[in-house]
Order: sequence, then C-alpha cells, then structure tokens
Amino acid sequence: MNFKKNIEDICTRLDGVDLFGVAPIERFLDLPENKRPTNLLPDAKSVIVLASQVFKILTDKLSVSNKVGEISYRDIYNAHNETVINDLRQTGYRVARYLTNKGFTSINLGQDLTDYRTISSIFSFKYAAVAAGLGVIGKNGLLITPIYGPRIKLTAVITEAPIEPDAVNAEDPCQDCNICIKVCPSGALKEPEQDQRVNHNRFVCNSYYTASGGCGLCMSRCPR
Ligand code: SF4
Ligand code: SF4
Repeated sequence: MNFKKNIEDICTRLDGVDLFGVAPIERFLDLPENKRPTNLLPDAKSVIVLASQVFKILTDKLSVSNKVGEISYRDIYNAHNETVINDLRQTGYRVARYLTNKGFTSINLGQDLTDYRTISSIFSFKYAAVAAGLGVIGKNGLLITPIYGPRIKLTAVITEAPIEPDAVNAEDPCQDCNICIKVCPSGALKEPEQDQRVNHNRFVCNSYYTASGGCGLCMSRCPR
C-alpha cells in the first residue's frame, strides 16, 4: 500500500502543512530508552514529522523591549503561532487517523511535550525532524530547515506502519556564523565547545524568556 503518497495527500490537502518527512524507527536508537518513540508506542516502525512556517515578516519584528505606544508585534506573533500550531495539530490527527483506520496503531503527539520542571521533553520533535530529513540543528539549538530556516513549528505522528523513509540532511547551516550567540541577551547561548553541537543553557534561557514575556532573538535574527 502506498502510505507515503496518501500521507502526502493529507498533508498537502487544503495547504495542510509546509513540510513533512519520515524517519524509520532505527534512527532513534542513539537516544536513551525513555526518549525513544518506542517508549510511547512499543511496536512503532516510523515517525512522521510535520512542519509549518511562521511568517518571517513577524519574526523579523520580534524584540525584547516594547515601548509604550508601539505596536506589539509579539502579540501578533503569539496569535499567529497559535494558529500555526492548531493547524499542525489538526493535520497530525488526520494522518494518525488515516493510518489507524488502515489497521496501524498510531499516535499524534500535539505540539509541546515539555516537562517544565526539568525543561526537557519525553519526545524531541527537533531530533525527530532531523531524523526525518527536514533539516539540521543550528548553533541556536533550533531546527534549521533549507526553506524556512528556524522559523517553523513541528509536530509528529508515531505509527506502527512501515513507511518509506526520507534521506537525512547533512548540510551545516552555521559554518562561520555566530549571530544567534551574539544577539542572545541572556548569555544562554555560547560558542559550542569541542564535540558540542550546541552550547545552550536552557535554564538561563527559560528564566530570561519568562521574565521578559518572550524572546526568540536566536530564531528571529538567524540569516537562514
Ligand atoms: S544565527 Fe547563524 S550560527 Fe546561529 S543558527 Fe543561524 S546560521 Fe547558525
Ligand atoms: S530565546 Fe533568547 S535568551 Fe533564549 S537562547 Fe534564544 S536569544 Fe537567548
């Protein structure tokens, strides 16, 4: 059965999402057992990752200070984000429902699975997106996609269906760039040390983000 084509149809129907990719379950074996998709669905064979863009016109305008009388682009951005996320969730559900109706147990994962006590997730959408060939992780710790850079939102479906996988993307989007590190107002982002891909202190970032009512400069200033 050509699941891939039908999933593509569901994803692109009515402009459902901008990107999707498929990772076979073997690509998650490097993760600790409690972070693998099989921890949520023991007989999982594939993970489908869906992504949609957030508009660059809005991310370009993000700032951490808002003067009295100025338009709050952050409020517009936040509302936009919510719409993108809701749309992704709906499409994820449709893909999971399609596969379930075909006899393959599937779970759509919504959007945010963070445990804020430890600021870690039981399932990393970014890791899954890399495994599904949607992009690579940049020095800002975010998924960088070839078309939309880091300006995307993600969701995923874990399924027992074996689906033709996509190739992993190996391009390094950062090279000599370190803009995200320079613009980070909290010092949470630093130049990666040897053998490190990302040097991001999520506790410092989260404290700053919460106290400021938002940040995201490492995403909005990324030239990719
Ligand atoms: S700002 Fe530069 S270094 Fe940071 S993620 Fe984007 S491309 Fe990479
Ligand atoms: S969200 Fe802000 S504080 Fe956190 S890493 Fe990015 S630029 Fe730094």
